Amino acid sequence: MPLLEGSVGVEDLVLLEPLVEESLLKNLQLRYENKEIYTYIGNVVISVNPYQQLPIYGPEFIAKYQDYTFYELKPHIYALANVAYQSLRDRDRDQCILITGESGSGKTGEAPGWGNTWSHLWNCFLVSLQARPRPDPPPHRTSFPLFLTPRGEASKLVMSYVAAVCGKGEQVNSVKEQLLQSNPVLEAFGNAKTIRNNNSSRFGKYMDIEFDFKGSPLGGVITNYLLEKSRLVKQLKGERNFHIFYQLLAGADEQLLKALKLERDTTGYAYLNHEVSRVDGMDDASSFRAVQSAMAVIGFSEEEIRQVLEVTSMVLKLGNVLVADEFQASGIPASGIRDGRGVREIGEMVGLNSEEVERALCSRTMETAKEKVVTALNVMQAQYARDALAKNIYSRLFDWIVNRINESIKVGIGEKKKVMGVLDIYGFEILEDNSFEQFVINYCNEKLQQVFIEMTLKEEQEEYKREGIPWTKVDYFDNGIICKLIEHNQRGILAMLDEECLRPGVVSDSTFLAKLNQLFSKHGHYESKVTQNAQRQYDHTMGLSCFRICHYAGKVTYNVTSFIDKNNDLLFRDLLQAMWKAQHPLLRSLFPEGNPKQASLKRPPTAGAQFKSSVAILMKNLYSKSPNYIRCIKPNEHQQRGQFSSDLVATQARYLGLLENVRVRRAGYAHRQGYGPFLERYRLLSRSTWPHWNGGDREGVEKVLGELSMSSGELAFGKTKIFIRSPKTLFYLEEQRRLR
Ligand code: ATP
Ligand code: MG
Repeated sequence: MPLLEGSVGVEDLVLLEPLVEESLLKNLQLRYENKEIYTYIGNVVISVNPYQQLPIYGPEFIAKYQDYTFYELKPHIYALANVAYQSLRDRDRDQCILITGESGSGKTGEAPGWGNTWSHLWNCFLVSLQARPRPDPPPHRTSFPLFLTPRGEASKLVMSYVAAVCGKGEQVNSVKEQLLQSNPVLEAFGNAKTIRNNNSSRFGKYMDIEFDFKGSPLGGVITNYLLEKSRLVKQLKGERNFHIFYQLLAGADEQLLKALKLERDTTGYAYLNHEVSRVDGMDDASSFRAVQSAMAVIGFSEEEIRQVLEVTSMVLKLGNVLVADEFQASGIPASGIRDGRGVREIGEMVGLNSEEVERALCSRTMETAKEKVVTALNVMQAQYARDALAKNIYSRLFDWIVNRINESIKVGIGEKKKVMGVLDIYGFEILEDNSFEQFVINYCNEKLQQVFIEMTLKEEQEEYKREGIPWTKVDYFDNGIICKLIEHNQRGILAMLDEECLRPGVVSDSTFLAKLNQLFSKHGHYESKVTQNAQRQYDHTMGLSCFRICHYAGKVTYNVTSFIDKNNDLLFRDLLQAMWKAQHPLLRSLFPEGNPKQASLKRPPTAGAQFKSSVAILMKNLYSKSPNYIRCIKPNEHQQRGQFSSDLVATQARYLGLLENVRVRRAGYAHRQGYGPFLERYRLLSRSTWPHWNGGDREGVEKVLGELSMSSGELAFGKTKIFIRSPKTLFYLEEQRRLR
């Protein structure tokens, strides 16, 4: 099978000549135009979103990729999934698959009937499990393409399929089903239409899928990161709130709507952007039914589903409770609820005293050792409290849903397991206005880059060791210094932010910035208007409230406005306690710290500290596994097929560090292949091995390469593979093949 093919570019960027950004882009473009959306860098898969259905997926393709080794067929994520799954099953090595790329690049979301990286991976695993061991396909084999239909109506078919399977396979299938059905539920609550992607995941997701020693799935654990909760109270022009709200309003029957005290019309809700309520190609009503049945499959009881929907509608109704004109006339430094109907309805639904809710929203109690002082909030403060409460309830609900799913899919203690981790997380972000969210997302990407470089090198080193080949040191840009700038326990930016949040006295975003400027004025990767850059110049273009970090992927200017607030992420105690008093079991359970008996004076960890520790856990987890990378690229801003914008791709290639990746990969031996497949491909170059060869594979390869008089430094003979140092040698071999 072709490694090189002139007309569609090289299949592995390691073979690129010359290795510069321009040729890299040209190569990706050429391939994209030929509908070749996958390209390798060694064992890394680059995937360019085709925005169209390509005939390269499905059971026959999966089966084909199962029968060949990695480089023998065209690049494909099935090849990667296959390698990962096989090493997990046969070599007993835990694996992780890291899918990164910017919004809309094809990591997760699902369009009806189309695919994307996550769903193709899933399908590949599921079919792998289904299809092996080979010769005797199970009687239900004909049904397995059902798994290939992403969601919606298919879930019912899948369920009936699972129900039809009996005997030994029953438990395995139900585990698969539960794992599969977690997707529509998480997407309903965590995805939304954005300008860049109609089904954008607004949270990061890491999922460990656990298998038994035979390679059948036992269960899994999902971890979620940083739900974009600001979306709950405000969306940009052209964007929607989380899908679930529209699904609920469109899909609930009259009885349910009445029970939840909701109106079907989306325009009645302050938290739902009025100009967009529908998304092309998305059927909210049928998605709602799919979500409900997915929850049932996962194991949510009817009662739990009802409670989740009650809390969801409570959040929606909260947005209407204190709309500005329901306050007393502005200018009066106190707030109140003019029309109490909304609060009453919420109170009835979740068993709360409406006066208590009003009090909690409109005033604040300060406790000192001796006394309690109640201050009235002004309109702005009360609105802020209302929004903070809504965001808090929703993000806690989301966490609860993830935990509830985990409870269903968890594997019993003591069961022997192998683990495949799949990470689907936001890529590096540079927006026009970068705030706390971009700061932490980019920090996470900085850490992932570190893992990437270290693990790629480590894997290389291990492969050389396995094959008995000497290792030569590789130089690369170590971004540890940037990670340290952000995460150092005492002197990192996050630590400074925490210190500022906890410091008594007057603290503000600008006191935080002043601290950074003072501390990092000489740091090579930190800049601000008042600090000098490496060339000893002040940057007058930067705003006074900004600082800049020189990330591995480029410079990003962050505006510190509301860093303190977002990091604090505090809810007034009055609100916490009011929520805990609810009769509603789910709502109450979301606010354990509202219990006065459990109230501790210790403040909860800040948003930054929480994120930092979950990133640390993630890194530890990733380092314990063999990594497999899928780098997703968005070819244009318009979600259009066939358009390739070089500038846009160039930026992403930089953020993904593709050139650096190729460089690292090429530093040792650019190419390696098992003796068998290599001999098969090149044996026609030697009269000793063509047309017949009866000897061993390695001897055959030695014969072929010996006859071509290759320089000895170019080649290394490993235990099972031949290693070739420079791409030129491979070009030469390919050229010779063509000439025969
Ligand atoms: P976000 O970070 O916003 O969640 P994402 O990287 O997860 O973005 P997706 O939602 O996976 O992006 O992809 C966006 C859209 O692109 C999908 O809804 C689908 O329409 C299309 N798409 C992605 N991958 C493929 C593919 N392999 N084949 C066909 N269409 C695809
Ligand atoms: Mg996504």
